[in-house]
Amino acid sequence: LLRITPVIDELGARFRAAGEEIALVGGSVRDALLGRLGTDLDFTTSAPPERVERLLAGWADATWDIGRAFGTIGARKGDWSVEITTYRSDVYEPDSRKPEVTYGDSLEGDLARRDFTINALAVRLPDRVFVDPYGGLTDLVAGVIRTPGRPEDSFNDDPLRMLRAARFASKLGFAVAPEVVDAMRRMADRITIVSAERIRDELVKLILGDHPRAGLELLVDTGLADHILPELPKLRLEVDEHHRHKDVYEHTLTVLEQAIALEHRLPGGGPDFITRFAALMHDVGKPKTRRFEPGGKVTFHHHEVVGAKMTAKRMRALRFPTDQIEAVSRLVELHLRFHGYGTGEWTDSAVRRYARDAGPLLDRLHIVTRADCTTRNRRKAAALQRAYDHLEERIERLAAEEELRNIRPDLDGNEIMEILGI
Ligand code: ATP
Ligand code: MG
Repeated sequence: LLRITPVIDELGARFRAAGEEIALVGGSVRDALLGRLGTDLDFTTSAPPERVERLLAGWADATWDIGRAFGTIGARKGDWSVEITTYRSDVYEPDSRKPEVTYGDSLEGDLARRDFTINALAVRLPDRVFVDPYGGLTDLVAGVIRTPGRPEDSFNDDPLRMLRAARFASKLGFAVAPEVVDAMRRMADRITIVSAERIRDELVKLILGDHPRAGLELLVDTGLADHILPELPKLRLEVDEHHRHKDVYEHTLTVLEQAIALEHRLPGGGPDFITRFAALMHDVGKPKTRRFEPGGKVTFHHHEVVGAKMTAKRMRALRFPTDQIEAVSRLVELHLRFHGYGTGEWTDSAVRRYARDAGPLLDRLHIVTRADCTTRNRRKAAALQRAYDHLEERIERLAAEEELRNIRPDLDGNEIMEILGI
């Protein structure tokens, strides 16, 4: 099952010769078994970090210190990127934000402290003995996310693992075992002791997964979302008595899926975090701005402006970089402007302003806006689609004209001939 790579055997031989143990481990073994191993290889070893660095010298093209405090050394060999971590047996202070690291003395001990059985797999080198003390292969075949020990103990040691369960559900399309979901529900508020940066990194991976709806629904159903992305569960508005508006939460998850289906239109082809997060946050201003007008009409006055502010605030709390905060909140703010386009009523300068305000985000704005339109009834969705096609064509035509103006010389042909003496 494992792709035969000389890197694995060379490292195995090298560490064996030095009297150290080494094994391919964690996500690398899982992904190899799933047939989706990338170029990242994770290893675990008996050698302390300084020794690992010396053993890699003369073999790797480059090595670097990923976090000596965590016992991890990185290396590159050809196309392969390698991370080697010294055996660990973590001891966590119940209320500390950071796991405290102690080195362990065995592969089995190292596997015991890993988050899920499907990640507690190893291939010992150089003999390639498969090590699976917790039935991880069975869970991998069944598509189940389960903790090696009692989920309560595991989540007590590191509450971030609750979020990681949802992240792997999104990434792999696996089900989370019922006892694990129960523990997540009971212990959801413990996530608050985890640093914003660690939460952000897992949330990004969850959103970039192939099944983000599953991951997000799990966060909302267990109450984890109330602590890390409260805007999302708040979208579950009671539908008003006249059923004039649909559930914004369900709508949002559908828009996210529609946006993902349109990502192939991006220059890079996706997956794209900015697009996905904007789709997820596009309506977060609705609960706050909802008004019941006389006559049963429901309005959400300027919810996109309120939503953009809420989005920026949430992203700041999660320590996102400024450029990403600006990009996502701008998309949220602009996603409704198209609704004033009607059947092509905008002037050329309004069309230009639309493109200019979106700037480098224009491709993403097209996707978020189009995705939002698809959840209307069939006929309305088709009409909006046609209107947006029309707008996009006009943007392109105007841009082409502008480019032509820019390259067309101020001189006419006769003047050029005169200058050149022809
Ligand atoms: P990906 O391919 O998305 O990187 P991964 O499984 O490699 O998936 P990482 O976050 O890179 O995930 O972690 C590498 C391995 O380290 C995991 O497979 C798991 O065995 C272990 N691990 C990582 N974080 C934790 C944690 N918080 N608690 C326990 N084990 C963890
Ligand atoms: Mg990894």
